[in-house]
Amino acid sequence: MRYVEHVSELVGNTPLVALGRVSAGIDVPVLAKVEYFNPGGSVKDRIALKMIDAAEESGELRPGGTIVEPTSGNTGVGLAMIAQRRGYRCVFVCPDKVGEDKRNVLKAYGAEVVVCPTAVEPDHPDSYYSVSDRLVSEIDGAWKPNQYANRNNPASHYASTGPELWEQTEGRITHFVAGIGTGGTISGTGRYLKEVSDGRVRVIGADPVGSVYSGGTGRPYLVEGVGEDFWPTTYDKDICDEIIAVSDADSFAMTRRLAREEALLVGGSCGMAVVAALQVAAAAPADSVVVVLLPDGGRGYLGKVFNDAWMSGYGFLPPTEGATVGDVLR
Ligand code: PMP
Repeated sequence: MRYVEHVSELVGNTPLVALGRVSAGIDVPVLAKVEYFNPGGSVKDRIALKMIDAAEESGELRPGGTIVEPTSGNTGVGLAMIAQRRGYRCVFVCPDKVGEDKRNVLKAYGAEVVVCPTAVEPDHPDSYYSVSDRLVSEIDGAWKPNQYANRNNPASHYASTGPELWEQTEGRITHFVAGIGTGGTISGTGRYLKEVSDGRVRVIGADPVGSVYSGGTGRPYLVEGVGEDFWPTTYDKDICDEIIAVSDADSFAMTRRLAREEALLVGGSCGMAVVAALQVAAAAPADSVVVVLLPDGGRGYLGKVFNDAWMSGYGFLPPTEGATVGDVLR
């Protein structure tokens, strides 16, 4: 019989899928690393596993301990999945811009969720960073992975995502494109790919317009999981050769195209990364192979990017586009 003892053994080894439709007219292959195939549904399973393993090893996380983390959802799922297996309690702190569906997923895995306002400075006592710090000091046996400062976040990508891409492309990858949140994905994967290719692979970050990585101040944008209003230590400034800023409108339009044209139901940060990847691919030399990482699936965003009324409300769709029963029958 072929089976695993627990789903957490299935983290990583996600497939590469060619984006043939949305890249029509571009001569070089654009391949997507589809991270929703991870058992928790996102790229963050990789860092959750590595951060917990390392904390157990160092003694920071002890049997019966509590994991406390500010997370927009995906890291929480990864942590909750492994915590459940190993007997830890989880308390997650989310900004209120994170969709209710995503928060309910965390609760379904058995985690507790605390919601904080998005529109306050990071050092405000109600910010999700401040609240999680307070919980850590108040809960006995608490450990905060702190994905924004934990070197095992980029290290997990250096050890898994990078080697997987090198092997899957038989060393032919020339450009790696990914969104930047904590910067763990791009820094760890990018470092590995640069080292293994003697600096040949170009690394391109995709960032929401307004975020610090592309020169903004952190002005609010609607794409979730990417962009920051501060510089986390998990982001290595030496790795990216270029950063491309992408608007919410373009990110969401591409996210919808990925579902409709590639049958890839993915989140808004995936659309953002693909917009940047297509820009890179259109300008790349003939023998290039462009790889773009798609961090998560789209089920957590059905009430947002895939909801016509929500899209119209923000001006991303004309007010009339959502068809009613009357429109369909007419
Ligand atoms: N997209 C989504 C949906 C995410 O949750 C994250 C993680 N915050 C990212 C992209 C960015 O990944 P990283 O933190 O490794 O930069």
